[in-house]
Amino acid sequence: MLRRSYLLFIFCITAAAAFTQAPIAKPKLVVGIVVDQMRWDYLYRFNALYGNNGFKRLLKEGFTAENTMIPYVPTYTAVGHTCVYTGSVPALSGIVGNNWFDKTTGRGVYCTDDSTVSTVGSSSRAGKMSPENLWVTTVTDELRLSNNFKSKVIGIALKDRGAILPAGHSANAAYWYDGGKWITSTHYMNALPAWVNQFNSKDLAAKYMSQDWNTLLPISKYDLSTADDKPYENRIRGEATVTFPHRLSQIPDSIKYESFRTTAFANSFSFDFAKAAIENEALGKNTVTDFLALSISSTDYVGHAFGPNSVEIEDTYLRLDRDIADFLLYLDTKLGKGTYTVFLSADHAVAHIPAFLAEHNIPGGNFEDGDIRREINQQIAANFGVNNAVLNLQNYQLYLNAAEIEKQGKDMSLIKAAIIKALQAKPYITSAFETDKLFLTNLPEPQKTMLANGYNYKRSGDIQFLVKPGYFDGGIKGTTHGLWNPYDAHIPCVFFGWGVKPGKTNRETYMTDIAPTVAALLQIQMPNGSVGKVITELIK
Ligand code: ZN
Ligand code: ZN
Repeated sequence: MLRRSYLLFIFCITAAAAFTQAPIAKPKLVVGIVVDQMRWDYLYRFNALYGNNGFKRLLKEGFTAENTMIPYVPTYTAVGHTCVYTGSVPALSGIVGNNWFDKTTGRGVYCTDDSTVSTVGSSSRAGKMSPENLWVTTVTDELRLSNNFKSKVIGIALKDRGAILPAGHSANAAYWYDGGKWITSTHYMNALPAWVNQFNSKDLAAKYMSQDWNTLLPISKYDLSTADDKPYENRIRGEATVTFPHRLSQIPDSIKYESFRTTAFANSFSFDFAKAAIENEALGKNTVTDFLALSISSTDYVGHAFGPNSVEIEDTYLRLDRDIADFLLYLDTKLGKGTYTVFLSADHAVAHIPAFLAEHNIPGGNFEDGDIRREINQQIAANFGVNNAVLNLQNYQLYLNAAEIEKQGKDMSLIKAAIIKALQAKPYITSAFETDKLFLTNLPEPQKTMLANGYNYKRSGDIQFLVKPGYFDGGIKGTTHGLWNPYDAHIPCVFFGWGVKPGKTNRETYMTDIAPTVAALLQIQMPNGSVGKVITELIK
C-alpha cells in the first residue's frame, strides 16, 4: 500500500514537472473573419472558379464544421456578430436585433448606439457608438481578462456593429467606415493613432472608386449565376443600370463613399486596413496572443442589392477568395505558417430573391412591415377606439402601446387576440402568438428553440409572427435575411492554423459553439453568457 502511494507520488511530481517545464503554447495571433451574409453553400457553389490558396486552402488545411446553424432568431448582423464572439443568444446577450424598440423611453434603439461617447476621426455622428448595449463578455474580452489585458484586441469592419460587437467591451480599438475614412469613438480612444490618420489620408476608397468594376473572369464563365440584367436587382446608388461593367467612376462625388460599400473593392479595402493594423500595432509580436476581429461587410451590401444568384455576388466571392489567399500569404510571411489561428464564419446567410424563385415556380414573396402596422392600427382604432396600438414593428415582432391601451381602459388581452387574428388571416403568415406565451404555442423544432433563444423580456416585442419559407419583410427588388429558415441560418464555420486539427464534421454544430471553441484553443475562460459547446474534433 505504502509502496503504491509512493509510486503515485513519484508519478505525480514527474508529471507535474513535465507539465510545468513546457510553457503553455499559444498562437501569436487569432484572426476571426466574419463574412457578412455568407451562405454556407458559397464555399462549394463557386468552388470551380476559386483559386487554391483562399477558401480551398482554409478547407484543405483547416477544419470545417459543415452543418453550423444559427440557434436563434432574428438572423441579423448585430446578433450574428454578437453570437460568434460571445457564444450567447439574444435572450442573454441583450442584442436582439440591429434595431429594437425601447419600451421605457418609447424610442427606437440601434444596437451600438451610445449617446455618451463621441466620434473620433470625423465630424459626423457615425462614431457615437460603443458596445454598451451588450450585456455579456466576448471571447476577445476573455482573452484580455486572461492575461491582465496584455493581449491586443482590435475590431475592424466597414459596419460599426461588425467591428464593435466582436471586439468587446475592453478592446484596444474598433474601427469602422465613415465617408471614406476609418473612424472610432471615445469609448476606445480620444484621437486616432498616427498610422490610421496616415491610412485615411491616402484616400484609398476614392482610388478604388475611380476604376470600373468589371468581372474578374470573362462574364461567360459565370454560368452558375443568372443573366447579368435582371429586373429584380437593385442598383448601386448613383448608377443607371444593374449590369457590368459597373461605372463606379461616374458616381457623383457626393455619394461615392457610400456607394463604395456596395462594391467588391470595399472588401479589399478592409483587408488593406487589416494589414495596416497588424503592421502598425505589431499584432502577433506580443508576449501573449493578440486578436484581430475582422468583418467583411460588402458581401452583405452586394448580396442585398443583387441577390445570391447574381453575377455580382459570384464576382464578389471570387475576388474575396483572392483577398483571403493574399491575406493568408501575408500572415505566413509576417508571422510564420502555423503560428496563427484563423476562423471564418458568417453573421447570417441570405434568402433567394422571391421574383427569382417565381421564375422557377418556387414559392416565395415579400411584404412590408409598415403596411402590416398601418393596417392593424386602423383596425384596432376602428374596433377598440385605441389609436396607434402598434408602436413599432421590428424583427417580426409587434411592440404594443400598453400605456395608451391602459389609459383608454381597454382590455389588453382582447386587443392582443384581435391583432393575432388579423395577422393569422394573412396568407403568408403561418403563426402569430404572444412572445411570452411561446411555450403554449404549437411550433416544431427548431423554430421553438430559436424563438426562445431570441426572446428577451426587456427588449423584444409583444407579439411575434412567422411566415412561410421564401417570404420576408422587404421590397420587391433585392433580398434580405432575418428568419429561422436554413437559407438564413446555415453558415460556414472553418478553423485553420495553430492548434487546429484538419478535418471536417457533418454533425450539427451551432454558431454559439465558435466562441467556446476559440476559448478552448487558447485555454482561456469561455465568455460569461456562452451557451455553446466546444467543437472538440478540431482541437489538436
Ligand atoms: Zn449581416
Ligand atoms: Zn444584411
